[in-house]
Amino acid sequence: MRSRRMSLSGWGRFPVQECEVWRPERYHDLMLREGAMTLRGQGRSYGDAALNENGNVVLNARVNRFIEFSPDTGLLRTEPGVTLEEIVSVCLPHGWFLPVTPGTKYVSIGGCVAADVHGKNHFRDGSFGAAVQAFELLTADGARLSCTRDNNSELFFATLGGMGLTGVIGEVTLQLRRVESAWMKVRQKKSPDLERVFADLADGDPEDEYRVAWIDCLARGRHLGRSVTMSARHARMDDLSGTRRGQPLVVAPRRKRTLPFNFPGWALNSLSIGVFNHLYYAREGARGGPSVSDYDRYFYPLDAIAHWNRMYGKRGFVQYQCVLPSDTAFDGMREILERLSRSRRPSFLAVLKRLGEESGGLLSFPMPGYTLALDLPLRGRGLLPLLDELDRIVIEKGGRVYLAKDARLSAEAFRHMYPRLDDWLAIKGRIDPDNRFTSSLARRLGLEPPHG
Ligand SMILES: Cc1cc2nc3c(=O)[nH]c(=O)nc-3n(C[C@H](O)[C@H](O)[C@H](O)COP(=O)(O)OP(=O)(O)OC[C@H]3O[C@@H](n4cnc5c(N)ncnc54)[C@H](O)[C@@H]3O)c2cc1C
Repeated sequence: MRSRRMSLSGWGRFPVQECEVWRPERYHDLMLREGAMTLRGQGRSYGDAALNENGNVVLNARVNRFIEFSPDTGLLRTEPGVTLEEIVSVCLPHGWFLPVTPGTKYVSIGGCVAADVHGKNHFRDGSFGAAVQAFELLTADGARLSCTRDNNSELFFATLGGMGLTGVIGEVTLQLRRVESAWMKVRQKKSPDLERVFADLADGDPEDEYRVAWIDCLARGRHLGRSVTMSARHARMDDLSGTRRGQPLVVAPRRKRTLPFNFPGWALNSLSIGVFNHLYYAREGARGGPSVSDYDRYFYPLDAIAHWNRMYGKRGFVQYQCVLPSDTAFDGMREILERLSRSRRPSFLAVLKRLGEESGGLLSFPMPGYTLALDLPLRGRGLLPLLDELDRIVIEKGGRVYLAKDARLSAEAFRHMYPRLDDWLAIKGRIDPDNRFTSSLARRLGLEPPHG
């Protein structure tokens, strides 16, 4: 197997680093014979989690075979490079969908386990890990360990959300969820301020399987936090009419467009984002009763535009995603939104979700509470100090920042946010004492064996 030196970045296009990239074709080549390494799926984490500056990066993408799928039980076993898009296209025609999905389908199943990703249904179904029955871990000493909640359970929970630092996540066994159709029944509702959006996310219709709010983060004063809350559930046969009912598990593929060039730096500013937010709030909030949308438009609206990250220009952007526990979330989110709106550094996309129970992953992000995700273009010098200020609010309120989105958190702030870090480090020291599994994120945050 030969390698190539390449400039790589995550989805936020910041930072960009030189790495030695390997692209194995076979499962047993995922583990390099020598040297330290970082695994990489589809590179859809935003920052430096799948980067290894001046070191080895091993791509999963071609190690993507389906091994077993039962259309009766919905149990699926695949190699780690299989993408969520591939899973949906193979399994949905049999009436099985992903139990949990992030906002893009262009991610690998290995990357989803490593980040223990969450979706719009976390408040009721938990994170990706909840549906993972087992995975194989290829460890630094060459072993292939089968990890489940009962077998090698310590490693199971250190790897779930462990950002690829305990070993290679090999074959993954996932329990899919039964659906009657490929369609979603969706409702939109305006929430005029932060109090109402919190209430709408907490106490919606018990039938809702998914719930998320888009926030106008330029709104201030009594409008602070005004949002459109979107709730949905998988459509049932009696929600469908005409040809949809005849072929409930089929939707026409969407036409894909490409953003052909980097937007100039001035294109996204508080004026253009303000106009967008105003129109979006008016249009989406005014939609009438429930509508039926195909799963692709509902879950993956951004996937319709390839390279949409070019919208943020050459310097890229940072996604800041934090979660605050239920009892401090309201005050904390108000402080964060006020700080943001004062800074006149608007976020093009601001999304608020309610999260449910933790998965048990020692470094997993979700906790019961509310999570806010902001896309902030890297422009001028003020952004990173502003995010440090937001970190201080998050720490004070007992919350944390999401590693799969992070590119700039300090090791000190990280330590305050992840109380089970020492337990994780003890396991890392045992399973990978020479630190064969590393990444730029791991070095930045001190995710290294105690004596490594
Ligand atoms: C548009 C968009 C929307 C998103 N929405 C959400 C969301 O709603 N919820 C959410 O939780 N996340 C979300 N994400 C983040 C994304 O789901 C995660 O970052 C996911 O981990 C990316 O998967 P990937 O295959 O691209 O992994 P990569 O980015 O390539 O890698 C992510 C991590 O996984 C590790 N890894 C990958 N494969 C393996 C393996 N086989 N063994 C060991 N470690 C491995 C890498 O080392 C790295 O630490 C979103 C991302 C985008 C771009």
